[in-house]
Amino acid sequence: MRYATFMAIPFRSTTEPPEGTGHAPERQPLDLREAVSFDPTCEVSVATTPVEAGTMVRLEGVRKSFGDNLVLDGVDLSVDPGEVLVIIGPSGSGKSTLLRCVNLLEPIQAGRILLEGEEITRKGVNVSAIRQRIGIVFQQFNLFPQLTALDNLTLAARRIRKIPRREAEARAHELLASVGLKEKAHQHPHQLSGGQQQRVAIARALMMEPHVMLFDEVTSALDPELVGEVLVVMRNLARDGMTMLIVTHEMQFAKEVGDRVVFMDGGRIVEEGPPRDVLDNPKEERTQQFLRRTQLSHTLEELTIDEEGGSE
Ligand code: ADP
Ligand code: MG
Repeated sequence: MRYATFMAIPFRSTTEPPEGTGHAPERQPLDLREAVSFDPTCEVSVATTPVEAGTMVRLEGVRKSFGDNLVLDGVDLSVDPGEVLVIIGPSGSGKSTLLRCVNLLEPIQAGRILLEGEEITRKGVNVSAIRQRIGIVFQQFNLFPQLTALDNLTLAARRIRKIPRREAEARAHELLASVGLKEKAHQHPHQLSGGQQQRVAIARALMMEPHVMLFDEVTSALDPELVGEVLVVMRNLARDGMTMLIVTHEMQFAKEVGDRVVFMDGGRIVEEGPPRDVLDNPKEERTQQFLRRTQLSHTLEELTIDEEGGSE
């Protein structure tokens, strides 16, 4: 088993408004290389992928419907240990559903999903045991409002994994430090910024020592100036060898951190490849169209609302 280290970093925003202007910060391309410096003295061990494990996550012909609505239409996808897969695509294309199926939050109608070679969609599987190997973080932080950051981290570890309080708290303190929140252990969620709350949520997911982490638009609800501090935590996790499936609209992050980008539309994988190929030089018309919209390379004046209410 290989263990990686997860280093703490001091956070500073790269998008602070110029002094004296008083204007809201403008969204700038995030330069993760400049966003942080490292404090190599603070290390936390995060169990990552056993190197010999082969494919970490594998979807084979996965079909998922909600009633008549076919949401995943035969998805085949493999993610290697230590790989960072970024999933992009329009709203409603099935990205969240895909992550939720991997975490067994949704049953599938056809196909199968394997985790470290084991079919987790088979009947009679121990769902709770599987979920402990898969960390998931959502757009909404879902922290328990009545609990401190520390207790948010330790609750599941103590209840589900029966880890003694002292041991759970020691690890929670280390993880909070590793996401730059050493001083916030005893704060409640309402005392923290959105970016801080999301970093608590990531640390909480890491408490269970997951083998893979799923991120569903974890920066989408944040004020622009708080996005960087969360992306940096994810970047560090990736560097430490964590296997990650990340749904995001942060294209610069996808380019810098992603090993592979998958573009989904209509419940199918339309295109996949290295980030620079898919994002800078997409082959498929649908990918090109999506990227044109997200990057607003058109001026607003060129955009019109089409009959279905989408913009073109
Ligand atoms: P994305 O994350 O790409 O925006 P989703 O996976 O959330 O897309 O949704 C894909 C489709 O599945 C949408 O048409 C959505 O309305 C539908 N859907 C998602 N979750 C549910 C649900 N719990 N019940 C019914 N329909 C759902
Ligand atoms: Mg979604």
